[in-house]
Amino acid sequence: MKISFNPDFPGSSFLGYSPFLSEFSDKYSDIRFSSLKSDSLKVAELLQLGYQQFSHPRLKNWSDRIYRCSPSLWFRDNNSGFKLRESAFCKVRLCPICSARKSAMWKAKCLQIWPLLTSEHPHLRYLFLTLTIKNVPVVNLKNVIVRLLRPSIKRFFRLLSYRLGDTFQGRIRKFECTYSSKRYCHPHYHYLLAVSPEYFDEFYLRFEEWRSLWQQSLRSDYKPLINIQAVSSDDEKGLLEVLKYELKPSDFKKDYRWLSEFGLQVSGTKIYSTGGILRKYFQFLEHDPDMIHEADINDNHAYGISNNLIRFDFNQSAKQYCIFS
Ligand SMILES: [Zn+2]
Repeated sequence: MKISFNPDFPGSSFLGYSPFLSEFSDKYSDIRFSSLKSDSLKVAELLQLGYQQFSHPRLKNWSDRIYRCSPSLWFRDNNSGFKLRESAFCKVRLCPICSARKSAMWKAKCLQIWPLLTSEHPHLRYLFLTLTIKNVPVVNLKNVIVRLLRPSIKRFFRLLSYRLGDTFQGRIRKFECTYSSKRYCHPHYHYLLAVSPEYFDEFYLRFEEWRSLWQQSLRSDYKPLINIQAVSSDDEKGLLEVLKYELKPSDFKKDYRWLSEFGLQVSGTKIYSTGGILRKYFQFLEHDPDMIHEADINDNHAYGISNNLIRFDFNQSAKQYCIFS
């Protein structure tokens, strides 16, 4: 098999390594594994520091698993790009490789399903909604999720269903949290809501009405920040923004105490939930995806280039996946 190698980036041979995965970038259509692997090693190191400070065995378990995530990658070169065929993913929620991979898998599956949804329900219109609360101490995050956010969200959707009636047709919810300072975090929920066209006529809610529904549900004495906007059903990519990371990639590496506490606090809580018409199409988001496209992994992957499978191993000193030789 002939591999097309990008001659503009001869860095590997110059430095004395075998060719880097990134040097095949013109044909490489998957996520940026080399930089994610470096991020994963950093996260494993931070969680190890967290374990030394907090002595929580889960932190050590996560750190060890993330450290060993995806040491080798096997790709198939199918002429339209490299497709990952096999690797050993750790599936830890805090692993940068696994979260990027999950996000990419979910996005691909959603893009596949979207045409089916729009052909079966061409009348549906979509809204993006973000519900936030004030920053909370990261050590209280689980308590806030269980005792404040969950009941408030229940109240919010009861009120919303009452106001919108049958025009409210379904939802996808995504939990997200950003780093705000060493001790604080900013948890919030992103929603994709499906409504029937009548919403825009007799049931339309103005921004202040959405905000007041959320404030009432939250029973807060402050006006919470929210965002609400209509999105076109043709804008598939925009609609699927709801699938962005739970934690921004840069937030993974901010502070080992914050990251360790965040991991322990969100452990066991759901990232996604679905409801109404959208549940039938997107319920798969509530479960871990297959990390590999299709289940075609029965090939005989020996070493290097074999049966159209190309193996790359992560080289720690080069900080790159290098072709196995
Ligand atoms: Zn992983």
